[in-house]
Order: sequence, then structure tokens, then C-alpha cells
Amino acid sequence: MALRSGGAGLNPILNYIDGQFVASQSGRTLATINPATGEIIAQVARSNGDDVEAATQAALKASKAWSATTLEQRVKWLHSIADALEAKSEAIAHLESLDTGKPISLARRVDANRSVSNFRFFATMGGDDEVPTFSANGAVNHVHRKPVGCVGLITPWNLPLYLLTWKVAPALLMGNTIVAKPSELTPLTAHLLAETLDELGLPKGVFNLVNGYGPEVGQAIVEHPSIGGISFTGGTSTGKIVAATAAPMFKKLSLELGGKNATILLDDAPLETIMDDIVRASFTNSGQVCLCGSRVLVHEGIYDEFIHSFTAKVSALNVGDPMDEATQMGSVISMDHRKKVEAYINLGLEEGGDILTGGTSSHAPVANMPEEGAFLRPTVFANLSTSSRTATEEIFGPVVTVHSFATDEEAIAMANATDYGLAGSVWTADIERGHAFAKNIESGIVWVNTWLNRDLRTPFGGVKQSGVGREGGTWSMDFFSELTNICIRQP
Ligand code: NDP
Repeated sequence: MALRSGGAGLNPILNYIDGQFVASQSGRTLATINPATGEIIAQVARSNGDDVEAATQAALKASKAWSATTLEQRVKWLHSIADALEAKSEAIAHLESLDTGKPISLARRVDANRSVSNFRFFATMGGDDEVPTFSANGAVNHVHRKPVGCVGLITPWNLPLYLLTWKVAPALLMGNTIVAKPSELTPLTAHLLAETLDELGLPKGVFNLVNGYGPEVGQAIVEHPSIGGISFTGGTSTGKIVAATAAPMFKKLSLELGGKNATILLDDAPLETIMDDIVRASFTNSGQVCLCGSRVLVHEGIYDEFIHSFTAKVSALNVGDPMDEATQMGSVISMDHRKKVEAYINLGLEEGGDILTGGTSSHAPVANMPEEGAFLRPTVFANLSTSSRTATEEIFGPVVTVHSFATDEEAIAMANATDYGLAGSVWTADIERGHAFAKNIESGIVWVNTWLNRDLRTPFGGVKQSGVGREGGTWSMDFFSELTNICIRQP
């Protein structure tokens, strides 16, 4: 698979500023590593505030002409981008698997598909957007959307292109220009996006990409006085820094942060039919999806049967080479992250938990994988208190804690006993009961008898320390636009 840098060959992964692929102004680079092998994939521009300044100036310069295009023209752009990305689906899946260690089958099914459908979806939304009017007191109010201007988009490593395109598509649709920063761990598909936009001839300066470390590039984007809005997806502790920097500047701010989601099996949950879904909710992408259910709460009446079946299924997961079509779980994102997850596994043991399957790489090694690969087996803990650190802090890896409860009220209290509030799922034979139960969960989304079932028209976001604001559908369009109400008195 060729990694192109504006036609310049394999290396390095350059910035894309004002329609040009350019090195960082300092000339510095950093390495992006395949976490499944420990091999360097490519050198990447290591940028700083100077590069962010150049990207922002390019975005500001492009803003006037881009915001003057019609919605119909931008809808056409989004469709063209979707078509071009769809033609590169296999390359997207390959690069994403290489950069993150996720199974190629997952990268195809989730990352490549969704990156295309994000553009397609917002193109369709844009086509339907109508300017609302309100009449009262002898006047008509016309609500107009205007772009925010130049926006900063900062994204994490777990779903690199999926999450970047989730922001780029509505930002472009609303007439904004962009300065984007992917995670320094996963720059490959953001680069592919820049190449694609370049090939399509998107006007220069409309989309700018600056690679590098969060504190050097992300921080400079958030601090830049001419960037009017920041859409950030990442960890809660980084989100706090972003919020503290942006708030005094009164920037528009969308924060999609961490989670510690509960998967709740009520006493009537039909175990025989839902176990595969529960395993999927627990360990998709090695548990590195913000929506994964890392705490499984099970009614005491079905607890033993659940533990037996869940442990058997998790133990049977095929962990290994991400490029193998049969692999169900690849590596985690990096050796550093493996160490962090292993520290939590050791903490779980210190806190009195019992490991039912999995464990650290030294206790439960993944067979036939290179020592330099950041592999871990999926790990299930029982007998931990729901208030333990292992059961309340975000691990963001393949570690799940299982707890039993006696009453629905107890399950609700357990589910809500974290600082996070992103997502959750409830499993029951009675959907009315599930619906009523779900209303008690403090989170932005609750699924009943399903998981990661996303309708892109719906609001997405968290409560408590899982974030501020909502993205998705009209909520994204609202974030990426400023509303002006023009009130005209009728003659
Ligand atoms: P981080 O918070 O470490 O990083 C997110 C992004 O922010 C990266 O691009 C990072 O750059 C950048 N960054 C780091 N420091 C700063 C700074 N001071 N100013 C601006 N940007 C900065 O998160 P991870 O990449 O580790 O991603 C995992 C986290 O993301 C988990 O907590 C997960 O729950 C959350 N997440 C939330 C989702 C949601 O929708 N709510 C969806 C997916 C993930 P760099 O990588 O170079 O440090």
C-alpha cells in the first residue's frame, strides 16, 4: 500500500496548508508506529504554533469565497468527497488497521464505511435544510445560518477518519474553513483525506491539516484568537485543558469526552440471544470505543449463567494479526497504552477483583504475535466493588468489570455512580420496561436491546464529565453555524 505525500513518495506524512503538502516549518518529524508490530510506518511532520498560524491564515483567506458558495454547491462537494472516499474504502481500511492495530474487517465495516456515510449523510441533511420563519406582532422573523468562520477540529486515535469526517462534513457544509489536527498516533487517514480533497480540487485553504503533538499543535489551535469554534473529541483531562483555554475567548466549543458506560442486564434479559451483542459492546476495537460498555451490571438471578457464558465467549475471541481476516481483536493503540491498561489490571487485582479470563501480557500472552506488538487478551473481572477505581475510571482498553444487582433501583444507582455519562445499554425481554428504565440513566445515549446502533440524525454527546454539547444531525449544523434572526415588520 503506497502512502503518498502529495505525490512525493512514501515519506514523510506532511501538513496540508493552503492547498500544498508541506513539511513542518521547524523541519522536525515524529514517527508513526504500527502498534501490532512496533515498526515505524512513516515519519510525520511535527508541527508547532508557526504551522498552526500558517494554516489559520490560509483558512481565513479562503473563508470569504468559501462562505459565499451556495448550500447547493457545498452539498455537491460533500457528495463528491463521499464518492471519492468510497472509491478508496479498501485503502482507508488498510491504513486505519496499520495505524491503530484494529482488525482489517472492523476497519472496513466501521471506519471506512462511516467515513463515507458521514459525508453522504450531511450532504443529504444540507439538501433538506430550510430557513425557518416565525410570524408574530406584525413582523416575520427569518432565521439565517452563517458559518462560524475558521474552525479547529481535534480528534483522537481510536476512530481516526470516522471521527474527523464526522466534524469535517458539517463544518464544510455550513461554509466554514478548517484547521484540523489528528492524533499524532494515527495521522495516515487524515493525510488520505487531504490527498482526496486535493485531487478533487477543493479550493485551497478551505481544509488545512496540521500534524503533531497535542500540547504543541492542538493547544495552538485552541489558543488561536481567529479560530472561532473548536470541536474536540478526546479524553476528559485534555477536554478540561481545552475548555479552560477556549472559554475565556468565548469560542464555540463542542467537547466529546470519555466514558465508563454500563451494560445492564435486567432479570428477564434473554441471555441465549444477546451474548454476542454483550461481547461486542464490551470488546469492539479492544474496548477502545468511547461507547463500549466497560461495566456489565447483571441481575443476581441470571448472574451465574451470564458469567459462565460470557467468560466462555470472551475466552474464545480470536486475538491476533490485525491484517488476518479472521481476527476479531487486534492490538491496543501503543505499548504505552498497553502499560496503562496493564496497570489497571494490576490495580483490579489489588482492589480484590478476580480475573475470569485474560490478564496482563505476561500472565495471558497472545500467542504468535511479535514481542513488540501491543497485544492484550480481553480481560473480565468479577467481585470488584462498583466504587473501586477499576470500576469507575475510564481504562479505554479490553477490560470489563462484572457486577450483580438485586433490584432495578440498585442497578440504576450503580450505573450512575461514575463521573461520566456518555452511553449505556439495557437488555430486557420487555421493551416498555427497558424504555422506562433507560430514562433513569444519566447519559447522552441509552440503547435498549442493541448497541452502537447509530442514526446520524440523532443527538450525540455526553453529560457530566463526558462532554458538553451535542453533535449529529441538526445539532452539528447548529454547532458549525451562527444563527442570525432577521425580524422584518410587515408594511
Ligand atoms: P486525548 O485527549 O489524549 O487526545 C485527543 C486529541 O487531543 C489528540 O489529537 C491529542 O493530540 C489532542 N490534544 C492533546 N493535548 C491537547 C491540548 N492541550 N490542546 C488541544 N489538543 C490536545 O485522547 P486520546 O487520543 O487518548 O483518545 C482517547 C479518549 O478519547 C478517550 O478518553 C475516549 O473516551 C475519548 N473519546 C471520546 C469520544 C466521544 O465521542 N465522546 C469518541 C472517541 C474517543 P495527541 O494525540 O497528539 O496528544
